[in-house]
Amino acid sequence: MPDWRIRPGKIVCVGRNYREHAKELGNEVPMEPLIFLKPPSSVVWEGEAIVLPKASSRVEHEGEIGVVVGKTLTRVSEEDAARGIRSIVSVNDVTARDLQKTDGQWTRAKGFDTFCPLGEESSQLPDLDSLTVVTRVNGVERQRGKSSEMVFSIPSLLAYISRIMTLEPGDLVATGTPSGVGPLAPGDVVEVEIPGVSRVSNPVQESQ
Ligand code: ZN
Repeated sequence: MPDWRIRPGKIVCVGRNYREHAKELGNEVPMEPLIFLKPPSSVVWEGEAIVLPKASSRVEHEGEIGVVVGKTLTRVSEEDAARGIRSIVSVNDVTARDLQKTDGQWTRAKGFDTFCPLGEESSQLPDLDSLTVVTRVNGVERQRGKSSEMVFSIPSLLAYISRIMTLEPGDLVATGTPSGVGPLAPGDVVEVEIPGVSRVSNPVQESQ
């Protein structure tokens, strides 16, 4: 059985890629994709704890559709970007919302250990235009979004990123979160599911 615990070389994330989510945080939808990096050391897998750091008093879930790159992509067209996708995976882009605001740049807020739960890679490449991502906390639905509602489509995001940095096999692109982000508390269980494709569920813990 192949090891499903994927270890991305780099994690490129997209901010404000759903209109309703940009609005709920008081932001405009950007004219170009807004991208940032999350360190590969933040990855955890199914069942592993998300640890709330002492430095933050508000850690939030962001359920997202993740794209795993299968080919080297440098300055590619949208068509070639779509052909370079290996799989789709559930991602939780866990964020210390208070630190995101106070720091101005997002490396600390997005980069703590355990802040990137990843599900199993899809065995086949699903239709990119009909994906749904659902986030539940303690079984209660908090977020639901569709790839068809994205401001920038998956192929256009990959093509855009590939004009800045080469995407390499095994890299992960997290394509932004829909509206409904909210805080996590110790004892919660948070689940991100792309129905029929990938799912990841993680308990939330206080730091020791
Ligand atoms: Zn995000």
